[in-house]
Amino acid sequence: MSYRIPTSEVLAEAIRDVLRRRPTVGSQRKLTELVLRELKGIDEDYTASEERIRKVAIDSGSAKIEIHCREGEERSRYTRCPVCGSKMNRIRNETVFGGTVTLGYKCTKCPYWTGLKRRMPIRYVFYGDGYTKIVEYDKSDPIDH
Ligand SMILES: [Zn+2]
Repeated sequence: MSYRIPTSEVLAEAIRDVLRRRPTVGSQRKLTELVLRELKGIDEDYTASEERIRKVAIDSGSAKIEIHCREGEERSRYTRCPVCGSKMNRIRNETVFGGTVTLGYKCTKCPYWTGLKRRMPIRYVFYGDGYTKIVEYDKSDPIDH
């Protein structure tokens, strides 16, 4: 079976097309399925992985992303964002003694952040440009902004 890798531009456009038709897509697997269907309409041999679609969606700004996490027991040691691969910055707080203390890490590109205990991304929700309404979720399923 032959396959071809679409450029980031083609991929970003396919993501936009999907989100033009539906305001939100509730999982990465679903987004991948819809984007692949879109791509096959252009070229039967096009393919893309879930991870690449997520990264292109963030990189190109073709989708807004909401990251749902659960807190693990491990300490955070991220230098790269687990969601999009970008650099992470320390979240610092000044102490009363004039020093600083690291509270966690925040991605420079997407909404991902983590405290000192590593927050593991477990689910992604994707939004198109036209989406403004904030959906309410159960408290046990916190949303990152
Ligand atoms: Zn990121």
